[in-house]
Amino acid sequence: MTEKRYRRVVLKASGEALMGEQGFGIDVSVVDRIARDILEARRIGVEVGVVIGGGNIFRGVAVASKGGDRVTGDHMGMLATVINSLALRTSLVKMGVDAVVMSAIAMPELCESFSQRQAMSYMNAGKVVIFAGGTGNPFFTTDSAAALRAAEIGADALFKGTQVDGVYSADPRKDPSATRYERLSHARVIRDGLAIMDTAAIALARENHIPIIVFSIHEEGGFNAILKGGGHCTIVSD
Ligand code: UDP
Repeated sequence: MTEKRYRRVVLKASGEALMGEQGFGIDVSVVDRIARDILEARRIGVEVGVVIGGGNIFRGVAVASKGGDRVTGDHMGMLATVINSLALRTSLVKMGVDAVVMSAIAMPELCESFSQRQAMSYMNAGKVVIFAGGTGNPFFTTDSAAALRAAEIGADALFKGTQVDGVYSADPRKDPSATRYERLSHARVIRDGLAIMDTAAIALARENHIPIIVFSIHEEGGFNAILKGGGHCTIVSD
């Protein structure tokens, strides 16, 4: 029997994680690597939902900061998440993983529209569900979308892939004496303003008792090591 600690999880990766060394867009080799991690998670029987950001393509605030319309900017940002989600589905399908994109904003020619019941049924059937379009609302982020979808599908944990392998006492890339927290509470993360996810996302996870596992999205196999009970991460829980 294969060891696994989680039954169903949501994986959140920022759009920037997909661009690799490039300054913009999608590096297919990086998307393939993330897809391999998801394939491995499916191999050990973990049900995986995924939320991908759009920051590698567009962020709504970029429009607003230049005097444009924030709502339209956010619509553009949400469209960027759909592009990234389609890229991930392509990589997963190429590897033989049954994956479906469900968007918060209807675009039936491109992908399915999100419904909680259909998402549950896909996950129960072992499909990887990629939640695109964020929450479908401006002024939100894909972090909040990830916490929302995790609550809706009854996930055991929300995996937040970041640049480093957890939450540190200082920026480990600048301060060699920085130490990684093994565990933190949602309340402390909010109180101390630790920049893991936006506050709305952490509050939603806290209300629904969903642990947030902060880990490095760049370490191949890191996601699966944690799923099996090892690896490097910070666990944010009640
Ligand atoms: N966005 C939005 N509502 C949502 C999720 C995302 O309006 O529910 C827009 C927003 O403009 C955001 C962009 O989509 O800047 C990309 O999402 P995010 O910044 O969360 O991506 P990431 O930083 O994870 O790449």
